Amino acid sequence: MKPELREVDRKIWSEIGQIIPENIFDFHIHCIYEGGFTGRIPDPLKIYLPCDIEAVLDNMRTVLPERKTTGIITGWPAITADLLKQNDYISSSAARNNLFFLALTAPQMDARYLENIAKKRECVGFKPYKCFADFPEDARITDYITEKQIEIADHYGLIITIHLSKRAGISDPLNLEDLDRLSEKYRSVFWNLAHCGRSFIPDYIENAAVHLKRLMKRNIYLDTAAVTDNEVFTIVFSEFGPDRILYGSDIPVSFLRGRCVGFGYDWAFITEETHSITASFPVKPALLLYEQIKAMNKAFRKTGFKMPEIEKIFFRNSEKIIQKITKGKEHD
Ligand SMILES: [Zn+2]
Repeated sequence: MKPELREVDRKIWSEIGQIIPENIFDFHIHCIYEGGFTGRIPDPLKIYLPCDIEAVLDNMRTVLPERKTTGIITGWPAITADLLKQNDYISSSAARNNLFFLALTAPQMDARYLENIAKKRECVGFKPYKCFADFPEDARITDYITEKQIEIADHYGLIITIHLSKRAGISDPLNLEDLDRLSEKYRSVFWNLAHCGRSFIPDYIENAAVHLKRLMKRNIYLDTAAVTDNEVFTIVFSEFGPDRILYGSDIPVSFLRGRCVGFGYDWAFITEETHSITASFPVKPALLLYEQIKAMNKAFRKTGFKMPEIEKIFFRNSEKIIQKITKGKEHD
């Protein structure tokens, strides 16, 4: 898909452009390799195409003009994904474009394969996904990444980006219990909880804050990908400070037009591409990425974060992690 800037986007950019630093490290980018599925590409993914590395980089230049961008790419986990083909694709795409990548993993994946991919210079971690668990919506962390696989990440000091299962995301007691145990046992892993711990609405991060704050003294981080609620960010920034937050976009999801909306204790992504959005006046939805950064900006103001804190979130924290990982590999 090719995002084009409309009037509403330009208006938001005039507000957020001032706070977006010159350097950006995007911790959460997906590429969709069309040959990376058994059979045809799943229908819901078609709206994102083309989403190969060239399209992704081109689109990043459109939506973040005059910025130096880099980041971590990964594939698209799905039950019909051919993970080896996708990993080959993102590995070579990262190498060709000076980027880093997370290897997609599934519990049954061979340890030797993962060892070999972990040794690649551009490989900075693993991206397991709940869809590979027996009960994807009610899985514990070790149902979608085995301890043997976590051990490999720990040995190389890699990132594991976790998209938590269970309706209550990070506030689910079993998720907190798993995270507590695993982050204590595997201290060299950079645990990245995607989507602010899958807290698209404030309730979950609010309920988890006390417990999570204690855990965040360990090697745990939260990425901002596809969260569009300013209250979520306000809680995250004020509770955890600027050092453990990583800017991520969830490209290509962030190129949709719309946002994540809370309904009771649930949430849904409502976008022009997937829903008909009607009101008594014409609704002009903006790019989801701009909604995200607009929400972040509101939270920056509320929590008093200025450029030094904002730069940490947009690139300095990520750069530190990458430096540690690449240095660790040199010594291995
Ligand atoms: Zn994602």
